[in-house]
Formats: sequence, C-alpha cells, structure tokens
Amino acid sequence: MSLKMAVPNKGRLYDRTIELLIKSGLDLGEDWGRKLYVTAKNQDIEILFVRAQDIPEFISSGAVDMGITGQDQIADSGCDLVQVLELEFGHCRLSVAVPEASGIKSVDDIKDGCRVATSFPNITRRFFESKNKKVKIINVSGAAEIMPYIGVSDIIVDLVSSGATLKTNRLVEIEPIVYSQAVVVTTEKALEKSKEAITDIVNSIKSVIDAENKKYLMADVPTSKLDEIAKLFPGVAGPTVMNINGRTDMVAIHVVIAKNEVYESVNTLQKMGAKGILILPIDRLVQ
Ligand code: AMP
Repeated sequence: MSLKMAVPNKGRLYDRTIELLIKSGLDLGEDWGRKLYVTAKNQDIEILFVRAQDIPEFISSGAVDMGITGQDQIADSGCDLVQVLELEFGHCRLSVAVPEASGIKSVDDIKDGCRVATSFPNITRRFFESKNKKVKIINVSGAAEIMPYIGVSDIIVDLVSSGATLKTNRLVEIEPIVYSQAVVVTTEKALEKSKEAITDIVNSIKSVIDAENKKYLMADVPTSKLDEIAKLFPGVAGPTVMNINGRTDMVAIHVVIAKNEVYESVNTLQKMGAKGILILPIDRLVQ
C-alpha cells in the first residue's frame, strides 16, 4: 500500500515544501498544482494537499502516515505526533501582542475578561490558563491583527516573524508562546507499519537540506601547501587529491565546504597560490 503524506495546499509553507519534495527526487508529474492529491510517478507515495492546520489531525487519526506542517499547528492541535525532521524554514513564533496604546507591558498586566482574538484557540487557552488569567478567546480564521482596531478583541495571539505586520497595525509583541518552523511529522503507529518507507523519504529530504548548506570546491593548489590545505579543508572525509597531468608542483583538490565559508575559503586559497578555483552547487549530500 502507498505511503500517504499530507502537505500544505497553499500559504507560506507551500512553495518550499514542494521544492523539497521535488529536489528529494519525487516525480509529482506535470499538473500537480491543480490536484488535491498526486501519486508520485517513481515512488509508492501519495501526496495529499490539505490545509496546514488540518495536517496534525489527519496524521493523528491515521488518515495519512506522515506530513509536513508548522510546529505551531502541531502545538495547537494537541495531537501526540512524532517529529522526525526539522526543515529549517517557516520560522516564526506565536506571540501575545497588544495595542501600542493599551499600556500593557507584560502578561501580568492583562486583566480578567480581556478578549483575545486568535486562530490558535487551544494553545492560547492553555497558555492563559497556565498564567491563571481568565480571558475570553475569540476564534478567528485569519487577520487577527485587525481585531483590536475594529473592536472585536482587546489583544491578539498571532504568528510573528519580522514583526512588520504588528507594527503596521500598531501592535506590540509582549510574550512569545511557542517558536515554530516547518517539520516532518508522523506517529508511532505509522512508524511501526512503514518505518523503512518513512525513513527513506526523511533521509532524502534531509540530504537536500544538507546539500543546500554546502558547496563543492575544486582548485589546483601548490603541492608544497597540500598538508596545510588539508588541515584547513577537512571536508566530509578529507579532501580528494588528484594529480594534474604533467605537473608535480600543483595538485587538484575537491572538497565539500559550508556555504557560509565560501568567501573566506576562496580568499585563503588564492593567497596560498591556488589557481582555477571552482565553487559548485551540490544536489544531495548523503553522509
Ligand atoms: P499560512 O500561510 O497561513 O497557511 O501559514 C501556514 C504556516 O506557515 C503557519 O502555521 C506557520 O507554521 C507558518 N507561518 C505563518 N506565518 C508565518 C510568518 N509570519 N512567518 C513564517 N512562517 C509563518
């Protein structure tokens, strides 16, 4: 039976999720953008496109085996899921925010009866209960930040990344409730049933993320500097060293380096007499 995987059908997590699946080697065919589900052409995997906020429940109920969504959605759902991979995108935090003019500086200043607009009612309720605050939760499906302005609520609990939307709406963040990024999640039950298939797809996605954080460096370096260079560029298992036809004074090296070290590495190698330095992207990195 195919492995079923739920992914967001739109919104902030959509583009990068699809990119990761395709780069991992799943062939979604041509017109997946208009479908509610697709079966990968080259793997026994069915991808279902659903709302990010429905994904935890779909996984928990066993309707699908695994999925990709935000940790914020998982926290709000209260579902008992197993997180198998952090995807390093969709970073945000769910925070309490108040109107600039409210004078509220911290959660301690919030009075009982305060109306809180949010699309995360469960985690918000649990948060205020843990602080012994009796607030009234107003469940909205989006645009929580305009609710104080139109008088629907006094404060909000909403997702923040840069804080620009809050600022535009004259709101200030007073306390984060949960930090979030996109993750791959499943259940113990699904892992029991399809451990190998789940591990395979998770490893594939991880290899794409790992590869994106790295570059492949090739250069011709002076043979006399080889030991020093090998120490500076250990790579995954040490640099690959190759002879250059007809030369004894220079050798070619190939090595994997961190993306954020490219600038410094090129400068260092140049100063050490390296020639023909090439930096190449890596599609997948399986360690
Ligand atoms: P949406 O675009 O509303 O479908 O949001 C889906 C998910 O994207 C949320 O549950 C978060 O995990 C993530 N997300 C939402 N807002 C932000 C934001 N401001 N910055 C980064 N990620 C966000």
